Amino acid sequence: MKPLPFLLAVAIPLQAAVPVELLLLNGSIYTLDSAQPRAEAVAVRDGKVVFVGSNADAEKIRTGAKRVINLAGKTLLPGLNDAHMHLGGVGFRELEFNLEGTTGIADLRAKLQARVALTGPKKWIAGRGWIETHWTPSAFPTRQDLDDLTPDNPVVLTRADGHAILANSLALKLAGLDRSTPNPTGGEILRDPRTGEATGMLIDNAMTLVRRLVPPPTESEVAHALIVGADREIALGWTGVQNAGHSREEADLLRRLVAEGKIKLRIYDALSGPGPSTMAVESSPTRPGRGSAAEDLFTRGPVIGENAGRYTRRGVKLYIDGSLGARGAALLAPYADRPDTSGLLMQTETEMLPFLEDALRKGIQIQTHAIGDRGNRMMLDLYEKAFAAVPPAQRAVAEPRWRIEHAQIISPADIPRFATLGIIASMQPSHAIGDLFFAPGRLGKDRLAGAYAWQALLRSGAVVAAGSDAPVERGEPMIEFYAAVARRSLDGFANDDWHPEQRMTREQALRALTLDAAYATFEEKVRGSIEVGKWADFTVLSADIMRIPEPEILKTRALMTIVGGEVVSESR
Ligand SMILES: [Zn+2]
Repeated sequence: MKPLPFLLAVAIPLQAAVPVELLLLNGSIYTLDSAQPRAEAVAVRDGKVVFVGSNADAEKIRTGAKRVINLAGKTLLPGLNDAHMHLGGVGFRELEFNLEGTTGIADLRAKLQARVALTGPKKWIAGRGWIETHWTPSAFPTRQDLDDLTPDNPVVLTRADGHAILANSLALKLAGLDRSTPNPTGGEILRDPRTGEATGMLIDNAMTLVRRLVPPPTESEVAHALIVGADREIALGWTGVQNAGHSREEADLLRRLVAEGKIKLRIYDALSGPGPSTMAVESSPTRPGRGSAAEDLFTRGPVIGENAGRYTRRGVKLYIDGSLGARGAALLAPYADRPDTSGLLMQTETEMLPFLEDALRKGIQIQTHAIGDRGNRMMLDLYEKAFAAVPPAQRAVAEPRWRIEHAQIISPADIPRFATLGIIASMQPSHAIGDLFFAPGRLGKDRLAGAYAWQALLRSGAVVAAGSDAPVERGEPMIEFYAAVARRSLDGFANDDWHPEQRMTREQALRALTLDAAYATFEEKVRGSIEVGKWADFTVLSADIMRIPEPEILKTRALMTIVGGEVVSESR
């Protein structure tokens, strides 16, 4: 391996008498430290980085090292950090009726038939993961597609994005839902245009009508799902995740599992805030909303960096609109492919503003789901109003680092407001490459200019943190990195008008998944790059994703995941 250019010799406060715990040698290391961007070796003591530099310098501290790993030229990155995901949802997706990759109605029916055979009579069947955008025809399924297979089982099948469900006739009947049932605020019961009967498709807040009947999982089932989910994340190379909104019970369980060492992943937790159906939307698929989990956070206050920085709880997740796929995203002008609607706003200013002001006083980070340009503008307006009403002197944290989750479609006039207001854009690259098949239809060409506008946001000075939104998406770091730099579907397709200029550079993508993701949780000084004094969180990859051709990024695997200097996952 040819010597790398080291910009400066790092002064190492290492006492030779105290051996390091872990020494990694012969790596192709990207540090994201501008003083020393590349290195060959890194050493760890007490869970933290104590040396970053050349192999030659590392040899001097080799004696007595508890473990030495020869990386044999493999790429080592700062530990990858998923800035938006749902750990319970990921775990339940692994354990429950998983409909990811369903190719059409016939496939959905075949999977359901197999599931019915495994399920006792009268028992609920809850599944997740179908998405009709790739089907032919690309239309929502209906209860009639399910009914003949499931006369005795109520069924609720959640769309991959978590913003729509398909229920069978029995489930609708148990919910007392008939043609006279009105649409709830922020939700829609899809109806047959000829008969007026519900089709079985329930959008956003209408999902609760059926979902509240599904028996919630027991505590031990939730614990099992969280552990399974965390193990999956670690195996994929994630060293930390930001859990975007769930119940207080789930948060307490997670905190305990981390304390007991059963979960090694770093967790940044956001609790579900007040508002209709919030908890039901994306997290544990069968766990219906039960009021505001966030109330507890306001009373007891944030938990910061517990268990050697492995557990933090200081966020509240809110929702302002729905998803683009289900046409629940709130747009400034009507949908191009359904001019009678411009989506749904889930909450009002009067409901939200006092809560936001209180969060500023208590030092709580707000993360609001906003997808449409109207949803995004409303949240920027509300954040701005709250900041004005509660000046820095009255805040628990002067720089609140509030976030907009997804920030998918932004009116170009609103793009600079993220940087001006200090709002973090928490975005999911994979959404852009999944949505490219239907977003042009929903939005029309003009609005695509502000859609998934990563580069415009970055150039305006905004911080973009990247995540996967698993289980809405697959949740694989290499898919997110590829999507960010290629902005093409997994098989290399992109529409002509899919704004390739909004791609991220590889360095920007890496930052968004590490250092900027850490900034989004107030942790850029303790993790997110490889520097002396920071937590020793690393991801070792099978290939150098900073250089290889784009399609090869998708073939790259995590060989090793290291959290706080501990090798928590290893494969070959
Ligand atoms: Zn989400």
